[in-house]
Amino acid sequence: MTGTPAGAGHGAEDDRRPADRRYVVLDCETTGLNAAQGDRIVSLALVTVDGGRVVDRWSSLCDPQRDTGAIHIHGIDNATARRAPRFPALVPEILRHLDGETVAAHNVGFDLFFLTSELERAGVPWRPGRVLDTLDLAQRFMPRLRNHRLATCAKALGIPHRAHRADSDAEVTAALLLHLLDRAEEEGHADPATLTVPGIRVLRRARRRSLRCDAEAPALSRRHRDAHRTVEAWPESTAVWRQALGTLQREDCPEAGRLLARFGVRKAGSPDPTDGPVADEALRTAIDLHLAGGAPDRDDLRYAMEGLARADAERRTPERLLALFPEPAATIARLPGCGDCAPCEAGGRCVTGSPAAALVSHFTEAGQRADMEELARYLPLIHEAGERTVLGRAARHVGQAREKAGREDEAAELWRWAVDRGARDGVLLNRLSMHHERRRKDDAAALAVCELALDGPLDGGGNSAREAIEKRAERCRKRLARAASS
Ligand SMILES: [Zn+2]
Ligand SMILES: [Zn+2]
Repeated sequence: MTGTPAGAGHGAEDDRRPADRRYVVLDCETTGLNAAQGDRIVSLALVTVDGGRVVDRWSSLCDPQRDTGAIHIHGIDNATARRAPRFPALVPEILRHLDGETVAAHNVGFDLFFLTSELERAGVPWRPGRVLDTLDLAQRFMPRLRNHRLATCAKALGIPHRAHRADSDAEVTAALLLHLLDRAEEEGHADPATLTVPGIRVLRRARRRSLRCDAEAPALSRRHRDAHRTVEAWPESTAVWRQALGTLQREDCPEAGRLLARFGVRKAGSPDPTDGPVADEALRTAIDLHLAGGAPDRDDLRYAMEGLARADAERRTPERLLALFPEPAATIARLPGCGDCAPCEAGGRCVTGSPAAALVSHFTEAGQRADMEELARYLPLIHEAGERTVLGRAARHVGQAREKAGREDEAAELWRWAVDRGARDGVLLNRLSMHHERRRKDDAAALAVCELALDGPLDGGGNSAREAIEKRAERCRKRLARAASS
């Protein structure tokens, strides 16, 4: 980033009050409501606020290369749009404004989904950071309004507004944003982390909502629609469910996997033992369907995976989770992170929806009864699946159980094995370096482990593990220097 004041664009380093921080307000006008069904951007505006005032405005019409749609809403006719630049020509300017910034919009999922769809079409990889939704904030901090449309909010605050012109909408959203941030601060929300959310999560929800298929969806075959009606009535009979879900699968319904998972989770929780195999089959098929779809959703996978893991923890057998290795596990490990789980937020590898994570939970949540040496046998499988974060977590647990049993050397050996395979669990690395420092009295080996740990983000253990490792590195360096000079 260039030409921005100190602290701008890096929320974490910015200790100004929320309303004084830097945000880029985005507004898109579009040919219709659904980016997933080919609707396009016809105009786009970006308004940058910093220090509580507008510091930059940029907007452009955009040729959607199709009918501009609802002219009565945005006022842009086909002839005007065709003279405008196409989206790829606008990309450098858009990224110059957005990169590294906190993006805000009114119903931010809508604008973000359109923007990223256009960027994807233009072949430009871009992932939003944290975002802020003035619609959410208005619902929280202006609860008494009859609705929270932009025009209604603007009117209530006396902000002049020409609705559905991208530049005017963005300008009004910016004014609304500053007002809402003031109000949020009055109500004790001085920390932006409570006002912003990960953009990737918002995007995923918007995408999922746009793909929803149900009995009301347009242009369905009669069979497809009837199957949705059956499922929506939530019948008691397993046979009826199976038939309806089978129809949805044959009709390529995008919701088939999700509905199958819901059915499976319900069967998994049933006291009838004959429901167990039905649940297994439904959940496994759901996972296959999710993975076969265009953009597997980690939240959907998590739901199905947790259904399997929960039933397993009760039965004390991880067999069905093991059946998911190594193919689906490796595919899931390669999916983009959810942006939302603890490892994602710490800059590590996502574990959401991972069968390896479910497998480890199966052992760790079983508490005292768990045989950690049994978990040890699955470590190569977890490694094979490419699940580095989970490998570290699993090796940490197994090693700590060995330590408790007085088998410290075997614990250290296992940790070394996991570290060599990419595990960067903070607690594990802390224990391993401690082992070298205290038990082996080998400062050089301890320092090497510390330096490896401090070389990048850690997957678990948080700041306390990192601090302990930093202190150990310091101690070892001093002793090694002293030994060298004597
Ligand atoms: Zn459908
Ligand atoms: Zn994640």
